[in-house]
Amino acid sequence: MILFCHILVGAALMAKIQIIPLALVLAFLSHYFLDFIPHWEYSIDNILEKQWKKAKSEFLKGALDFGLGILLIFIISKNSGIILAGAFFAVLPDGLTLLSLLLPNKVLTIHDKFHRKLVHYPKKISFKENKTLFFLGILSQILVSILAIFFLIF
Ligand SMILES: [Zn+2]
Repeated sequence: MILFCHILVGAALMAKIQIIPLALVLAFLSHYFLDFIPHWEYSIDNILEKQWKKAKSEFLKGALDFGLGILLIFIISKNSGIILAGAFFAVLPDGLTLLSLLLPNKVLTIHDKFHRKLVHYPKKISFKENKTLFFLGILSQILVSILAIFFLIF
């Protein structure tokens, strides 16, 4: 899923679960669970193929996606410091994937395979060709975000 959804869910788990280490672990694990749900994502193919010169707009989209998520949890949550830790753990798997591209090593490569190939909803499915799939791929993320915002506020 896009970073925005991961951030909101991580923050919501942190807001609702009183045992902090447990909340952090669940925020981390929530990433894989959310990636498993069918969803549409903007392309980061150039980043994944290490075409750094062509990847500028993809990094920009990622930064915007990340920034909006962080901004929203700052606006709607009460205990921002600890909530931010939940958000951080919830996006950590994507951070590890980026790190494995920059500094490839055995452990990060294994994690990347698990994260992107094993758990992630198949990326081969073309959202461009199938409008219903595209709609459902957006809807799943809207629903996850609304639910997370609800738990963050109430
Ligand atoms: Zn991911």
